[in-house]
Amino acid sequence: MESGTRAARTKVTEASLASGFWLVGERYVVHDAIDRISSASDAWLPLSGQPSRKVQRRDGSWVWIERDWRGQPLSIPDEDRKVLPVEARVRLIVDETPDPRTRRPTVWTPGERSDLADELVRLGRGDEEAIVGWVREHGFVGVRANPREWFESVEEIRHALSWLGQARDLMVAIRDLHGEALRRETERLIGLPAGELTEVKNDPDQPMSGQALASRFGIAVPDGERWPSAGPYVQALDGLRGALQAPLYRLLRVQATIAPTGDGMRLQGAIVAQGPLATAFFQTLNEASWPAITWAGSMLRLDWHAPRRCQRCGNVFRPRRRDQKWCGERCRWAASKAGS
Ligand SMILES: [Zn+2]
Repeated sequence: MESGTRAARTKVTEASLASGFWLVGERYVVHDAIDRISSASDAWLPLSGQPSRKVQRRDGSWVWIERDWRGQPLSIPDEDRKVLPVEARVRLIVDETPDPRTRRPTVWTPGERSDLADELVRLGRGDEEAIVGWVREHGFVGVRANPREWFESVEEIRHALSWLGQARDLMVAIRDLHGEALRRETERLIGLPAGELTEVKNDPDQPMSGQALASRFGIAVPDGERWPSAGPYVQALDGLRGALQAPLYRLLRVQATIAPTGDGMRLQGAIVAQGPLATAFFQTLNEASWPAITWAGSMLRLDWHAPRRCQRCGNVFRPRRRDQKWCGERCRWAASKAGS
């Protein structure tokens, strides 16, 4: 596929469009709404696909504000509104900031927050109040990667952040686990039946075996060679690739590929988008490209020497040990004092 080839040639660090300013509105209001599930691959919802909102009239009655096929507004009394099989009730956060064109908007730069991805994953696991509070402080999460967006639902924010969380959990597993423990965690995170990756591991005809995946990523495996310990990494890396480029409905596009590096393979990718969510995926893609799998003699191994981020201060450092979590003594000491 042409786009895949192009992504493979793109260095992760070239995806710099993920940085940039992001707008914060002055008034965000939460409405009951009906969301149309769209299977359209277009990242932008058409006008007629905007969610219907339930609003209260002056007389106290509730109506649904909808749009007909021409985009003209319609109001339907609450009691007449029926949820169609393809629709879902959602909690819609709407930016009701008065005349955003004339005011001087509050802006911030998501790319300057080195721990934004982890912050958003925690947010996605929080409740509605936490999500709405975050939006009031920072603007929308950026599900449509549009700084002028005027609505996002709590549900679609959760959906987007759960994919982000899955990708980051896989990334951490690849870094910290190996062998069967890594296989088990990969199975759990991508929702495969327990034992499935182990079952196919030695069968080159199975598409999920390490050998079959590696050859799909462009690594030729010599006949009769064995790869002690490499298979679980290749399988987990493929799971991560899948989580990063999952068909995120309505979301920004992430292209992730695994490509040969000359002496092994590495996950890399590209993002063309902006906003907090794009920045978080960008950070994840960047960090996920660190554990290169390198070819050493007859086996592939994970290159744990690649730089990683300190779990305490967020600075990037080059580890001396495989399981090193902190950049140095000072952060290790501070982390142990904090009980983490
Ligand atoms: Zn540190």
